[in-house]
Amino acid sequence: MNPNIVNFVYLIAGILFILGIKGLTKPKTAVRGNMLSALGMLLAVVVTLLNINTVDYSYIVAGVVVGGIVGSIMALRIQMTSMPQMVALLNGFGGGASLTIALAEYFTVLGVAPQSFADLVTSLAVDSSAFGVGVEGTIALVAIGLTVLIGAVTLTGSLVAFSKLQELMKKSYGLPGGPIGNGLFLVAALAAVVCMVINPGNLVAMVTIVALALLLGLFLVMPIGGADMPVVIALLNSYSGIAAALAGFVLGNTVLIIAGSLVGTSGLILTQIMCVAMNRSLANVLFGKMAAGGEKIDADEIYAGKVTSAQPEEVAMMLEVAKRVVIVPGYGMAMAQAQHAVRELADAMEARGIEVEYGIHPVAGRMPGHMNVLLAEAEVPYDNLVEMDRINPTFEDTDVVIVIGANDVTNPMAREAEGSPIYGMPILNVDKAKNVVVIKRSLSPGFAGLPNPLFAMDHTLMVYGDGKKAVVEMTTALNQA
Ligand code: NDP
Repeated sequence: MNPNIVNFVYLIAGILFILGIKGLTKPKTAVRGNMLSALGMLLAVVVTLLNINTVDYSYIVAGVVVGGIVGSIMALRIQMTSMPQMVALLNGFGGGASLTIALAEYFTVLGVAPQSFADLVTSLAVDSSAFGVGVEGTIALVAIGLTVLIGAVTLTGSLVAFSKLQELMKKSYGLPGGPIGNGLFLVAALAAVVCMVINPGNLVAMVTIVALALLLGLFLVMPIGGADMPVVIALLNSYSGIAAALAGFVLGNTVLIIAGSLVGTSGLILTQIMCVAMNRSLANVLFGKMAAGGEKIDADEIYAGKVTSAQPEEVAMMLEVAKRVVIVPGYGMAMAQAQHAVRELADAMEARGIEVEYGIHPVAGRMPGHMNVLLAEAEVPYDNLVEMDRINPTFEDTDVVIVIGANDVTNPMAREAEGSPIYGMPILNVDKAKNVVVIKRSLSPGFAGLPNPLFAMDHTLMVYGDGKKAVVEMTTALNQA
């Protein structure tokens, strides 16, 4: 095929990827964005296949059929709540694909087709001149070494992330050396990359890179707590993109470099957004628990004698006279699977002419967009979901805020208590509203493990109970009023 045509189609595919990512930034255009990116990938794959003369299509068709069937079944059967696991698994497959591409290229260029692991280790005296000399050969080898390294880390790291989210691995394990041990593993793996680049025929170096990188992926993710997994998944997503971009250099395929770079950078940006929204550094997520906080905060001191509780029926009476209500969902809404009940409550309020909006914090729940996904599943209109920066100035004019299963994202300590572990984390300023109703089962803390002074404020009512049950009772009472 004419190389100009190939490059032109690759360019179109690259533009479609960029338009696709842009579309994914807004719920309304997300589906179209996804389609555009998929179209770009289809074009890229078809042109790449047509451009190779010596390809045996039977393997490729078999791969597409088997992969297509498995992927479709997984996508159709997956529950919305299990989406993070699915993403983790797909990231792992991406890393595994880059790893195998780089290994295949390495062995093809060397002209070695090892039949067994023993062959690999014993056939040390391979002619390395196949890689060519000079800068080009070195770049190819560096790209292969790094693709193998990052691809393998992504593969095993993502599998651990999947196991944690699927609750197959409940405890946190790690290297005894902690971050230093992992650092030593990384240095050893990079040293093996250097050895392989200096002497490409040294298969021991390649086997060492693969082994160390697979172990490093395990040890990096095993110590991280399940609740921090979404940040880790965003990071692993970025790694899978970097591995794909490097695989693009290995194969000399421009569109793979573009797609990989886009995934790599967007994953890094998402990781950064999540860390900022949680007011934690990436190092703190990867290597530590939440900051311990300046002084120990005593929950009794904050709550004793100051918390007022109420029944759903009393809240319904309050809602009857409200003009504007904001619903603030959090992790507890997901736990209670209360999204449909919440929409029904909102419908009942709207039927009475009450203005209802939802205040969405970027890290409410346990994965990016957690609340948006759940509320979209319950068919809440996107326009009613209002981001933190836009909803915050409206709280002063809000009659009632209903906080359902949210805790940290509403904690005023983040604004006021210098030295508290969440100090500086941007929050939803629900305490500025005229009345606040908090639905949760008890006064126990959220993810950050801190008491929340909001619960003890004069204008706050606590409704204790499971999120779904409490909301259903409120709706029933409101409808009967
Ligand atoms: P929190 O974890 O702060 O609080 C959730 C609250 O939900 C708990 O206090 C719990 O109280 C309540 N709850 C649990 N189950 C139920 C139920 N069945 N019915 C009613 N209430 C229930 O959640 P937020 O959403 O406010 O904050 C998210 C936290 O997670 C932040 O600290 C964030 O940094 C962190 N995080 C978020 C990530 C993301 O990507 N979104 C990723 C990693 C961490 P009780 O037990 O009393 O019912």
